Amino acid sequence: MSSLKTDVLIVGSGIGGLYTALNLDAKLNITIVTNSKIRDCNSYLAQGGVTTVMPGDEDSFIEDTLAAGHFKNSYETLEIVARESWKNIQTLIDMGAKFQKNENGELKFTKEAAHSKKRILFHGSETGKMIMETLIENIEKRENITIFENTELLDLKISENSAYGGFFRNKNKNFSVDSKIVVLATGGIGGLFKNSTNHENIKGIALALAKRHNIETKDIDCIQLHPTAMENPSRRRLFLLSEALRGEGAVIRDADGKRFVDELLPRDKVTESIIKRKNKNNSQIYLDVTALDSDYIKNRFKSIWDECLEIGYDLTSDLIPICPAQHYFMGGIKTDLKGRSSCQYLYVVGEAACTGLHGKNRLASNSLLEALVFGRKAASDINIHIMDITLTENPTSEDEWCPEKAAREIIIRHRGDLKNELRHY
Ligand SMILES: Cc1cc2nc3c(=O)[nH]c(=O)nc-3n(C[C@H](O)[C@H](O)[C@H](O)COP(=O)(O)OP(=O)(O)OC[C@H]3O[C@@H](n4cnc5c(N)ncnc54)[C@H](O)[C@@H]3O)c2cc1C
Repeated sequence: MSSLKTDVLIVGSGIGGLYTALNLDAKLNITIVTNSKIRDCNSYLAQGGVTTVMPGDEDSFIEDTLAAGHFKNSYETLEIVARESWKNIQTLIDMGAKFQKNENGELKFTKEAAHSKKRILFHGSETGKMIMETLIENIEKRENITIFENTELLDLKISENSAYGGFFRNKNKNFSVDSKIVVLATGGIGGLFKNSTNHENIKGIALALAKRHNIETKDIDCIQLHPTAMENPSRRRLFLLSEALRGEGAVIRDADGKRFVDELLPRDKVTESIIKRKNKNNSQIYLDVTALDSDYIKNRFKSIWDECLEIGYDLTSDLIPICPAQHYFMGGIKTDLKGRSSCQYLYVVGEAACTGLHGKNRLASNSLLEALVFGRKAASDINIHIMDITLTENPTSEDEWCPEKAAREIIIRHRGDLKNELRHY
């Protein structure tokens, strides 16, 4: 089996992987590997925006995030995210990110459900795409970064609780990478579910690897269903109708046209009410955006408007059938405040990590922010310590296993109630 050598191996090309890479010392040799195309990640799909905690807003942000997370969040993590939010958003802007501005050229903030004030920066309803294009543009300028697309991580190289690379497959060809540091930025678990808003290629590899190599995990039972995915049995990935629509006045109705839930409650509460109502009346549930000004909708939510139209719905006049769908994984590999896992030289960032920020339920738009804050934290720690690490060459070879099956079993053990929602492997 052929083998490559690199200083830092990053698996995953979403916001977590790319932002970490850009914050690493430009003298380091960095290899990014992703199992699809660079843009095929959940980060690219993010619609609503990114939470931006301006100086003076820290306490209110912490209160809102705690309330959404059932007060099971880590307070230390919350304080760090609140304190470091603006610094990271500023870095993104310096890299070229173009968040929406008002007529005076000032940044324009919007509100999403369960945030008590306007603190979300956005770019139409394509915030993730704009951020990802900015990051990709910056990555392309960096000669020290190499990207391998369509390359699947099969296993980690780990010896005596220290990570030193990974095994990969690209077009039926297997190879391995030896590295001083490994960063897992492989996202969540949505691809394991029949109904999910996530990309199919994101199937809980981090969770499966944690189980296989005894790496500490946290909050595995905390799986978020988003209340407003567009119901569409012919689609493998369900289209999301962003929370920002409800933040701006969209309402939820049953088949009789009755409202039955406060649309601005946190996601888990809204989801719970929809499931109850569906089960009670076997009723179709709808999102109703028709009371909003139609020109405003077409501008503010252009990509959602376009996508709905393509599927056959006019957001300004039709009710949109919705259903809850798996959306986000609050749990994951447990990390400390520098992105380090319990396995030496293995960092985990983004949705694959459990930093404790979200508690039992994620507040809207906090995920992109978490990936930024801890992507930079991990990079800073790696920059300091990498000099002291020597590259290990260890002749271990991979053995056969099915990560999807392993991840599926772990989820069933922690959330037996979701068994029928999962795909078979
Ligand atoms: C439709 C949608 C809308 C959202 N809107 C928002 C929003 O407005 N605001 C917000 O804060 N959050 C939002 N989220 C959540 C947020 O987008 C994600 O949590 C975040 O982008 C995760 O970033 P990441 O870098 O951890 O992972 P991802 O962006 O999911 O990237 C994971 C990467 O890992 C790679 N990968 C996975 N498994 C393997 C493997 N075995 N081998 C190699 N590579 C692998 C994938 O190809 C991908 O490149 C949304 C999510 C969805 C699905």
